[in-house]
Amino acid sequence: MKYDVIIIGAGSAGCVLANRLSEDPDRSVLLLEAGPDYTFDQLPAELKHDMNQAASEQGADHNWSFVGQASPQNPRSIHVARGKVTGGSSAINHQILLRGAPEDFDAWAAAGNDEWAYQKTLPYFRRLEADADIRDDFHGTDGPIPVWRHAREDWLPLHAAFYQACRDAGFPDDPDMNHPDSTGVGQVPLNNPGGVRMSTAITYLDACRHRLNLTIRANVTAKRVVFDGDKATGVEVESNGESFTVDGDQIILAGGAIASPQLLMLSGVGPADHLRSVGIEPVHDLPGVGRSMKNHPSVSIVYRSQPDHHLAPDAPRNQVGLRFTANGYNERNDIQVQPTTSYPESPTAPNIRVGCRLEYPYSEGLLTLTSADVDVQPHLDFRFLTDPRDTERFRDAVRRTVAVFEHPAFADLLAERLSPTDADLASDDSLDAWLQQNAGIAGHASVSCKMGPSSDPLAVVDQYCNVHGLRNLRVIDAAVMPDIVRANTNATIIMMAERAADFIREGK
Ligand SMILES: Cc1cc2nc3c(=O)[nH]c(=O)nc-3n(C[C@H](O)[C@H](O)[C@H](O)COP(=O)(O)OP(=O)(O)OC[C@H]3O[C@@H](n4cnc5c(N)ncnc54)[C@H](O)[C@@H]3O)c2cc1C
Repeated sequence: MKYDVIIIGAGSAGCVLANRLSEDPDRSVLLLEAGPDYTFDQLPAELKHDMNQAASEQGADHNWSFVGQASPQNPRSIHVARGKVTGGSSAINHQILLRGAPEDFDAWAAAGNDEWAYQKTLPYFRRLEADADIRDDFHGTDGPIPVWRHAREDWLPLHAAFYQACRDAGFPDDPDMNHPDSTGVGQVPLNNPGGVRMSTAITYLDACRHRLNLTIRANVTAKRVVFDGDKATGVEVESNGESFTVDGDQIILAGGAIASPQLLMLSGVGPADHLRSVGIEPVHDLPGVGRSMKNHPSVSIVYRSQPDHHLAPDAPRNQVGLRFTANGYNERNDIQVQPTTSYPESPTAPNIRVGCRLEYPYSEGLLTLTSADVDVQPHLDFRFLTDPRDTERFRDAVRRTVAVFEHPAFADLLAERLSPTDADLASDDSLDAWLQQNAGIAGHASVSCKMGPSSDPLAVVDQYCNVHGLRNLRVIDAAVMPDIVRANTNATIIMMAERAADFIREGK
């Protein structure tokens, strides 16, 4: 068993890589996935449709259901959803297809990764999508991921009121949230036409399953990468209780921002002292593995509906969104607000939740091993709000969002605000306490094996995604973002996998 390329993890990045790398019939590709694999016709309903977020609930069939902690000062448990199925987290996510801001990519370039400047990423954002609504230099029309927006006449009353309230509060109209200059309130770009969640399993993997040079093995867990000196030569896996070693000329970790650093460390690649502390003999000392981990801290502002404002169980979740810049800060669009309307109509869940998220967090988390066993999840310390700039901007975000919802357009829809209460909002201290108690995360874990030049002691991969100091080993997924982007992460990760596939084709 020897392959030209072995890809570990069939998620957002892994499915893209499997497709693009197997376009060359002379390259044999093995795609390994710990979860099950479904063709489109076999997809369980909760993966095919959003189904009130059933797929991402803690304990759901295709969710790794990790648990992390908010911060050392506030060790409250936080649920961390990750997809465990072909398509990965794109198979359980909320289908907002929003690109990172141009400034995000230009900052990646300025940090020593010039191949990732916005101008160089744009062709790949275009390549990945077929935008049904917008035709211009910034959008693609024939890529695998279909993108659409809810037309204004189809907006639910809550979204129509939200748009009106935002406009009256002075936020600009944002007709194209993927335009490089975009800000304000507008229709959210989505990758779920007809209510179908278009994961990378559907859009990229189904399109290449027929290729004889592509082998897809689901329900196989990679345990570690095998080395000969500094050269990666294969992967040790577990399949139905049996262990195997499979050889490959190139090994690509695409397990996502939690599994990729975990697998590197289980393979002896990471901070040497930490590895020894859990009984792993280091192969290569790389202090940045598991460091700098980021995610978008998020809170829900919760309202009780008016008695005759009903939410249908199959209502669209997202239609209209708002992005703005926190007062006193310069990072454009560092706040995102999304009212959600897909909760089931039931006595236990009648409330309206408005997601309010910090899109440009400064606080950095830490991922460490607690065991040398792949089946024991790593310790995830998100260290939310440990940087005072994050708390300051989050406060501003919550206050401005609450103010928007005071608009009379909501009078027939919302009966009262349940959380934060007026007492929570009364002072900075009380609001900070509410934030500490309520901040959770989006599913946007990233930057846990960050990309950067070898002069950066915390860089794990170079800008072509090659692991520093080792041969034949790359990481290509959310983990290698040099910093988190100001957007939901799926589109950026797909873009990165598209671009990295070209690097591999070019022998970089
Ligand atoms: C609930 C939720 C909602 C989200 N909503 C949105 C949204 O609306 N818009 C958006 O842009 N982003 C959203 N995201 C984020 C986005 O989906 C993820 O950032 C993205 O899918 C991650 O891609 P990835 O390739 O890095 O990892 P993943 O897609 O998570 O893929 C990793 C794959 O590796 C597999 N794997 C892990 N360990 C092993 C192992 N040891 N052996 C073999 N296989 C392994 C996993 O099972 C998984 O299939 C959401 C995420 C979640 C969880």
